[in-house]
Amino acid sequence: MIVDSAVILAGGFGTRLQSVVNDLPKPMATVANRPFLEYVLDNLLIFNIKKVVLSVGYLAEAIISHFGNSYKGMDISYSVEDTPLGTGGAIKYSLQKISSNYCFVLNGDSFFDIDFNRLEKTFFDNNADIILSLRQIENADRYGCVEIDNNNIITSFVEKGAKSGAGLINGGIYLLKKSILENFPEKFSFEKDFLEKTNKKIYTEIFTGNFIDIGVPKDYLSIASAGLKTHHYPYNSLFLDRDGVINVRIIGGYVTKTSEFEFIDKAKEAIGILSCYFKHIFVVTNQQGIGKGLMTATDADDIHNYMISSIKKNGGKIDKVYICPALAAENHIDRKPNPGMAVKAAKDFPDVDFNNSFMAGDSQSDIDFGKNAGMKTISIGSEMLGANHNFSSLHDFSQFIINNSL
Ligand SMILES: [Mg+2]
Repeated sequence: MIVDSAVILAGGFGTRLQSVVNDLPKPMATVANRPFLEYVLDNLLIFNIKKVVLSVGYLAEAIISHFGNSYKGMDISYSVEDTPLGTGGAIKYSLQKISSNYCFVLNGDSFFDIDFNRLEKTFFDNNADIILSLRQIENADRYGCVEIDNNNIITSFVEKGAKSGAGLINGGIYLLKKSILENFPEKFSFEKDFLEKTNKKIYTEIFTGNFIDIGVPKDYLSIASAGLKTHHYPYNSLFLDRDGVINVRIIGGYVTKTSEFEFIDKAKEAIGILSCYFKHIFVVTNQQGIGKGLMTATDADDIHNYMISSIKKNGGKIDKVYICPALAAENHIDRKPNPGMAVKAAKDFPDVDFNNSFMAGDSQSDIDFGKNAGMKTISIGSEMLGANHNFSSLHDFSQFIINNSL
C-alpha cells in the first residue's frame, strides 16, 4: 500500500441509535464487548494503514479517553470540532493533520469490508483525484444511489427514495488527493457541496463485502452480540479457465471477437462473490486461435477488457489474464496442462501461494494444469479425474463457499 493515512468521521450524533445505545457516540456502540470503532481500525491495520485522524465532536471525550494516542501500534490523533463543520468541513479540518498528499476517508459509524489495495490501485492507475467505494444492494430505496458510466465514473446521484429495486450505494470509504478540498470554506457538506457538484471525475470501485451501518438499529442488533469479522481472505488465489467456465464455449471453434463472447448465466455475479474469498483471481486460457491466425492478440485483448469491465460492474476482480497463443503441437510450457501461466502469475504477484490456491476449469487439462502447479482443483460441469471438488457452475461454487470450506 502506498497510502498509510486515514481520516475517520466519528462525530455522529447517533439519533437513530439512541433507542439502543444510550450515552455513547455511535462509533463507540458496543459490539461483542468492544467499541464498534475498534473493528474499523482493526480492518485498517490489515492494510497497513497506520496513521489515523479521528474527527470527533459529539461526546468526543468518550472516544479520546478510550483510544488515547495509539491503538495496536497505530498513531491516533484527533481533530475536535467545537461547532459542527459538516462532513466536508470535518474532513478538510482533519486533513490538516495528515502529512501525505493522499488519504483515505471513512465513516466511523459504518463498516464496509473492502479491499483497500484494490481501491488504491484503481485510484493511481487512473491518476484520479478521488475514488469512492460502492456496494450493489437489492433494495436501494432506503439510500441515495449513484449511476456510473462504462469506466465506472459517476454520472449522477439519485436521491433517497427516487429509485426502487437494485442500485449502487455509496459505501462511505474514499481515497482522495488532499488538495481537492483546498478551495472549500470551513463548513460544508462533503456529499451535497462537493461530490454532487464537483467537475472532477469521481472514480468508483464496486465491492460485494459485508456492509453494516450501525446507525440503523436492525444492522446494529445483527452484530451487537455476534461481533464483526474483519477483512480476511481465507484462500490465496483462484485460477479460472475461461471458455465453459466464465463464458459459453463455442464447440469446435473460438471466441474471436467481443460480440461472440457470451457470459454464462450468473458467472459475473459468482466472480463478485468469489472476490471476497480469494486474494487474487486470474484467468488462464489457451488461445490457440491466435496461433492459427483466426484472430489477433488485439482481438483477445478487446475480449478480455470487455470481460474484466463487466465483471468489475458486479463487484468482481480479475487480477490478470494469461493466454498461450501457441499451437497445441508445440507443447509450449505456457499451454495447459503445462504450468507456465501459473509460474508467470507467481512472478507477477509474489504473494501467490499455490498451497492455498485453486484451479477451476471444465476440461481435464485444467485439472492437470492445477495439479502440475501444486494447486487444488475444481471441476466445473462434468466431473474430471482427480479434481478435489466438483460444481455444476461457477455460480454453484460461489454459493458453496459462502457457508463451507474448500
Ligand atoms: Mg474450458
